[in-house]
Amino acid sequence: MRVYSKELQVETPSRRSLVNITERVESVVKESGISEGIALVFLAHATAALFANEDEPRIRKDYERLFERLVPASGDYEHNAIDDNADAHLLSALLKQFYVFPVKGGRLVRGTWQELFLAEFDGPRLRRVHVVVMGQ
Ligand code: ZN
Repeated sequence: MRVYSKELQVETPSRRSLVNITERVESVVKESGISEGIALVFLAHATAALFANEDEPRIRKDYERLFERLVPASGDYEHNAIDDNADAHLLSALLKQFYVFPVKGGRLVRGTWQELFLAEFDGPRLRRVHVVVMGQ
């Protein structure tokens, strides 16, 4: 078994934003030379998240509305007494910071409508995404 890892730096454009990182992760899998195995994608942050779903302009707006309904950007948050990003921590806690994809034929196994998003809740920032590909 071989292991190949790489850290991606992802710039996010605004406080709450969605960045499609699918092709960047696919590129890491390609350069790993591993054709069969798994790929772990880990986001080392507490105010952002990863999720895999459709990338289409209207559903992007619906994701944004869902996040605002779940955790409004402004509210009476305890953490805001020492920082101004409680809403970002709460959304990050509700979602996940890692994904594991099967790798087959040198590509991620994904559903037709599964694009991998980095969901930024406290940007703009430079985020670190660790990709570890394991297999043969
Ligand atoms: Zn904070």
